Parts: sequence; C-alpha cells; structure tokens
Amino acid sequence: MNIRKEALEHWSAEDSAELYGIRNWGNGYFDVADDGGLVVSPFPGNNAPTVNLLDVVNGIKDRGMNMPVLLRVSNILDSQIKLLHSSFRRAIKQTGYQGVYKGVFPIKVNQQQQVIEEITRFGREFHHGLEAGSKAELIAALGTLHDREACLVCNGYKDEEFIDLALYACKLGMQCIMVVEMLSELPAIIERSRVLDIKPLIGIRMKLSTRATGQWAESGGDRSVFGLNTSELIETVDLLRKEGMLDCLKLLHYHIGSQIPNIRDIRAGVLEASRVYAGLVQEGAAMGYLDLGGGLAVDYDGSHTNYHQSRNYTLDEYCVDVIDTVAETLNGYKIEHPTIITESGRATIAYYSVLLFNILDATRFEPPQVPEAVPDGVSEMTKDLLQTLKNINQKNLQECFHDAIYYRDELRILFKNGRISLRERGLAENAFWHIMVMINKGVKKLKYVPDEFEALDSALADIYYANFSVFQSLPDAWAIKQLFPIMPIHRLNERPTRNAIISDITCDCDGKIEQFVDLHDVRKTLPLHELRENEEYYLAAFLVGAYQETLGDLHNLLGDTNVVSITISQESGRFEIVKELEGDSVADVLSYVEYNPQALRDSFKRNAERAVREKLITPAERKVIMTAFEDGIRGYTYFER
Ligand SMILES: *Cc1c(COP(=O)(O)O)cnc(C)c1O
Repeated sequence: MNIRKEALEHWSAEDSAELYGIRNWGNGYFDVADDGGLVVSPFPGNNAPTVNLLDVVNGIKDRGMNMPVLLRVSNILDSQIKLLHSSFRRAIKQTGYQGVYKGVFPIKVNQQQQVIEEITRFGREFHHGLEAGSKAELIAALGTLHDREACLVCNGYKDEEFIDLALYACKLGMQCIMVVEMLSELPAIIERSRVLDIKPLIGIRMKLSTRATGQWAESGGDRSVFGLNTSELIETVDLLRKEGMLDCLKLLHYHIGSQIPNIRDIRAGVLEASRVYAGLVQEGAAMGYLDLGGGLAVDYDGSHTNYHQSRNYTLDEYCVDVIDTVAETLNGYKIEHPTIITESGRATIAYYSVLLFNILDATRFEPPQVPEAVPDGVSEMTKDLLQTLKNINQKNLQECFHDAIYYRDELRILFKNGRISLRERGLAENAFWHIMVMINKGVKKLKYVPDEFEALDSALADIYYANFSVFQSLPDAWAIKQLFPIMPIHRLNERPTRNAIISDITCDCDGKIEQFVDLHDVRKTLPLHELRENEEYYLAAFLVGAYQETLGDLHNLLGDTNVVSITISQESGRFEIVKELEGDSVADVLSYVEYNPQALRDSFKRNAERAVREKLITPAERKVIMTAFEDGIRGYTYFER
C-alpha cells in the first residue's frame, strides 16, 4: 500500500537535486534541469548557458568513442582560477593589505600536458605560475610557462642538474625560486650559482609545529619529513650571511597538508608562518614572498563541515582569514606586507574532470519465494526459522532479527555436521533473506534506527556493474576511502527505486564503491533507477580532477580511459570538443607489462594453425578466429558495445 502510493507520487528533478546533494557539492557548476538531465554550467550567475551531459555523451559516442570517458570541461578550470584570484583580490581590498597575491599550481596534482598548458593560459592575466616538485615537473614547467611575472616554485629534493636548470631559468628572466627542503641542498645551490655566475632566488621550507587535522595530517608538524626546523632555519640564514647572499633569500614556504577541513588549522599555520617570516626579515633576509602551500580543501560531500571530506569555510573566508592574519601579524613588527603565494592544487582542478560511465548490468537482491506450507521432513530449527518469517510485525523487528541470525547459524552447523540436506539449507537461507528484506522494510518506518540494522541496507543492496576500473579512474576511492559524488546523468525526473552499490569490471573484490556522499553521514548505498531494456544507463563521478589520473594503475590491465575535453560557448551555450585522447588499447597495456603484441599474435597463430592441422577448425574458421584476436588486441580495454 505504502510502496504503491510512493510510486504514484510525483517525483521531480528538484527531488533528485536534493537527494544527490548536487547543489551542495557542485560549486554552482552542476545542476539538474527540469527535463531530468544533469547539466553543467561553467559560468557563474543566473541565466548562464548550460550543457546537458547526456548530449555530451551522445556526441562522444556519435564520433565513435566508447565509455568510460574522462570529460574535462576547460571553462571550469578557467572559472576556478578566476574565482581564486577574485577572492584574494576582494580580501586584499577589504583588509587594506599592501601586498599582492600570486598563485601557483602544483604540477603533481594533475600533470597532464593539456591541464598545465591551460593553467598557464587561463592564469596569464593573474600571473598564475607553477610549482614543480621534481626534475620532470620542472622541465614540464620550463617548457610551458612563458609569463615572466609568474612564479615557478621549485620544491622537492634537488640534485645538481635540477639546480642548474633552475638557475638557467633565472638567467632567462623567469621568477624561478628554489625552495630549500634540506639543509644539505644549500651548499650545492651556493656553489652552482657561483660556478654559473647566476644569482639564485632562494626560498626555505619550514616545518610548522601547527598540525592540521584531516586525512593528510602527517604532512605538517614537527615530525614532517619535509622542511627545516627552527635551528636549521637559523643555520641557513647564517650560512647565507657568511656568503653575502642574504639578499637571495626571498621566500618562506610551508605546506601543512592537503584537504585541510578546519579553518582554525589554516589560521594557526598562517599565524606561525607570519611570525617566522618576520623573524627572517629581522635577521636581514630580503624576503618578499610568503608561500602558504596547498591545503585549501574541496567540499566533496557538500556538508560544509570539518569532516575530512569537506571543509567548514568558503573560499572567501579562506582568503580573508589568510590575508588578515598575515597583515595583522606583520603590522605588529612594522614589516612590509609580502606577496602571498598559495599552491592550491586540489581546489583549483577537482571540478574540472568528470568520469562518465555506463552500467553494464545489475543484480538485484531478491530471494526466491519460500513455500507456504512447511515441507515434510525438515528439522525443528528450519521450522522455527519459517515460523519467524510468518511472525514478523512492526513491533518485533529486533526480536525476529536476533532469532533469524541464531537459527541461520545453527542450521549452518547442522549442515556442516551432515545433519540436514543441501536442499534444506537452501530453503533455510532463502527464508533468512526473506526475513531480512521484511525487517529492512520495517526499519524504514522506524523513527529511531538501532545500530544493528545499519548494515542491512548495504547487505540487501543491488549491485550495479559499472564500465570502469576504480583502480584506474578513482584510485583514492580505493586507497584512502575518498568520497566522490556519483549520480545518474539522466532520468532525474523519475524516482530512483533501487538502492545499489557499484562494482567495477576488475575481478578484484576491492573494485567497488560502497560509500556515497550525504549531508549528514556517509551513505552505504546509492539510489538508482531500474535499468531499461535496450537503453543505456549513464552515471558520472564528479570532482575527480585532482590526483586521480596519474595515481591510477593498470590493475587487471584496464588502461587509461578515453579523454575528451570540451569548452562551452558563453554566447551560444553550445559545447565544442576541443581535444580527444584515445585511451589505451589492449596492445598498449600489454606492452606496458613487457609483452610484444606482434609476438603474441604470431604465437597465437601457431595455436590456430595447429588446430587446422588437427582438423579441429577449417582454414576459413582460422581466419575468423584470427580476426577476432586482431580486433581484441586493437580494441579498448573496457567493455565495448
Ligand atoms: C601536494 C602539494 C600541494 C598541493 O596541495 P593541495 O592541497 O592539493 O592544494 C602544494 N604544495 C606542496 C608542497 C605539495 O606537496
């Protein structure tokens, strides 16, 4: 009665927006349209044009590319960079700060050539620079950055080659700042700069005693592996003074960690760093730059709390807090306000990429019917279990739950001891799951849900098989239980009637997603629509632009996905595909693990030829089989249809 009524009740796109929390985590870029489509709009403000993601998927498929596809929306990156700078500008104006803000993008957060190129292009008007943490990243930065007013901050351990490259960059007029991570790097920097006769721009990375809470708490604090402690800072200053190079010491840097959910930790870090900055100025260092590292968090679950997958502050609050703290602290020393640098990676790039995928199949949790009459010859225990099924009502849910578990466990023991038949065990398990389904329905009507029922939802959930690999495309969902918002991109004006978990197509039991975003908690299941015959069902995982691409791996030899980049025209509201990168073929991934595809082909041909010789197949059949092998080796590593 209740269920039927629910099904008849109207369900609107608005209901879906609320259910999936899209306006909480979407940062204004994603929304649900009245026709039930998920739309993307990279332009802030009302009446901005939107593009329906299903149209994008169809456009991609019409051009002959298959799902899964990593979609990059260039304008979102553009907007995020503008937002960051306009927020800092507002904060600077509001607080009367005397310095300026310059951002750098840490390359490690998304190293893809297109991304780094777009960051320098979109960031040009703000002199947005890059941060490199290794030689390879430095070389990528040197080849991409053309803006001489933008900073190129070099973190990471530096050998002579690294130092020389950074010095040459200075000679070319670039603002290439070498940040000393370890005391032992300094003599090498001094020596190379003498040898090459190039004046270096030197920064130092400090260890903060401030520790942030959250997932990456270990990156900061006294025990952090990076940076100099206070006595090493003093040693650095003394050495530079002795060498007559205190005028080269320009920048103080720290990085407490990524995804800092609590604004208090951010403020505490800035405060401590401002005092150290003041100390260095008092020591006679030139200074001029204060680099606050990364840590600006993304509100993945949309809860706006200090939960580690969220943040309890807005971008504007972050900027005001940072600027205000620096200004106030330094005013106390009558020290000139420095140029503020942040190395925001995650917050800049997360919204930019969306993983689009289709559902291949679903298994539904529905135990077969239990016979009305108790079959002859079954044990007392089974009879009790069947009786429990008959007795369930809204008042005895907990009692029936405990009884059922007890009977099921006892029956398992009886089976192991050879006392009941396989058929009886089958009947008992069926009855058990029926009881669980009924209890779960009853639980939904309770005002207060006892803890023991919490696992029921996921135990009884459908499994939706998704055409992607968690390990390749959402590695942090597996490695550190990172939450990414996931939802259907169409049919959002229909009530989702199923509750599911998502399984990927690797054969790994960890290749699944059982945690979903929710305002108050973490959901164990995701409401989804019933699959329809002959119709694709598409989902998307959002906010996947940071860290996921290069951390992904070849588990089960599922390779890189296709990548499609679009830009959306603010005038026409139409999207244009600006770049396509075909994902790995089977031959590609095999060669990564040292196979030679040609040798495999030849070797398989020998198997086929032997079968011809032995008259298992005809030569014509050999041709068909070899063609299938050939298609396979050239094909996409994901499910194609
Ligand atoms: C990783 C890293 C960043 C990026 O941090 P986000 O939290 O992604 O902004 C910035 N600076 C350094 C030194 C890093 O190691």
